[in-house]
Amino acid sequence: MPIHKKLFIPGPSEVRTENLLAMAAPQIGHRTPEFKVLYDQIQVNLQKLLYTKGPVFTVTSSAFGVMEGAVRNLCHKKCINFSNGAFAKKWHNVTKACGIDCDIHEVEWGKAIKPEMIEERLSTGKYDCMTLVSNETSTGVLSPLAELAEIWKKYPDVSVCIDAVSAMAGTKIEFEALGLDVLLAGLQKCFSLPSGLTICAVSPKALEKSKTAKNKGYYFDFLEYQKSHEKSNTPTTPAIPHLFGLKAQLDFIIDEEGLENRWARHEKMATVVQDWALERGFSLFAEDRKYCSKTLTCIDNRAVKINVAQLNVDLKKHYAMISNGYKDLKELTFRIAHMGDTTMIDIYGLLRVIDEILGF
Ligand SMILES: *Cc1c(COP(=O)(O)O)cnc(C)c1O
Repeated sequence: MPIHKKLFIPGPSEVRTENLLAMAAPQIGHRTPEFKVLYDQIQVNLQKLLYTKGPVFTVTSSAFGVMEGAVRNLCHKKCINFSNGAFAKKWHNVTKACGIDCDIHEVEWGKAIKPEMIEERLSTGKYDCMTLVSNETSTGVLSPLAELAEIWKKYPDVSVCIDAVSAMAGTKIEFEALGLDVLLAGLQKCFSLPSGLTICAVSPKALEKSKTAKNKGYYFDFLEYQKSHEKSNTPTTPAIPHLFGLKAQLDFIIDEEGLENRWARHEKMATVVQDWALERGFSLFAEDRKYCSKTLTCIDNRAVKINVAQLNVDLKKHYAMISNGYKDLKELTFRIAHMGDTTMIDIYGLLRVIDEILGF
């Protein structure tokens, strides 16, 4: 087995031993009454987590499967993909790869998506579907969903699909209040569980629209998921160990830690990491501190110029790992994730060790 380095990378994140053990429970049949109980317990807590009374699907796939599914179910005319980083850009490429007519609204990396950009595009009347990455993991930018929602709510015929992969379960996102149609995330980021399952809330409007979708395929057909959901089940054999892990983790999040405490802890970790960076002469890659992600911090390294690759080599000796910048941003930036079950103690410990290594 590889040596256990504590992961401060934006996914996969650390998984607590309790949850790993929960996943090691003996298998159950997925068409049995026990499974129904498991499914229902998970469902109730997912609805609390996402502030919705509607269905929240558990899809055995990485997030991009459901990102593809979202546009295949909900784009019948033309899609606008808003992009301020690598994951958003990739969603545009995935939309194109599905043969869907689409445009991209691109802004410089480090910038947030703003209300006027949504207005500019949706007011053309050309689009019936939009995609947006709420928390851009490549740049550490969190777009202001509440402000954006005021715009898209004026265009009810446009399906609003949100990638919250690196925010869900770490940042409060109110599905119904924000007027969303699809909100999705994998387990390997702020859920602090192993990768393999994608959580996806869908609106009644999205389910209705899916009925007339052409060429949506089978595996990510929302109606198939809905039909099974009504029987507390999934269309195909799910990743049962992940569901055991998710059950245990949701019990922890909702009943032990509490949602408000969890959101507050992420805010606190973000503030501590941002302050640490600024006090050492770095700047933050996000255009403005108010758009900084709560779950990871992307630090601009251009003024201080530490050797990020070497820092990670040194951190390995302390059984920890952070992330270099994403692709072209390598060495120009580096990223410290503070997501999922990472604690204040973990963060203070990591920053202390980095100070020691760098001689700050
Ligand atoms: C990690 C990440 C993804 C990738 O998800 P997969 O599970 O690898 O498909 C997508 N979007 C964002 C914002 C991410 O951070």
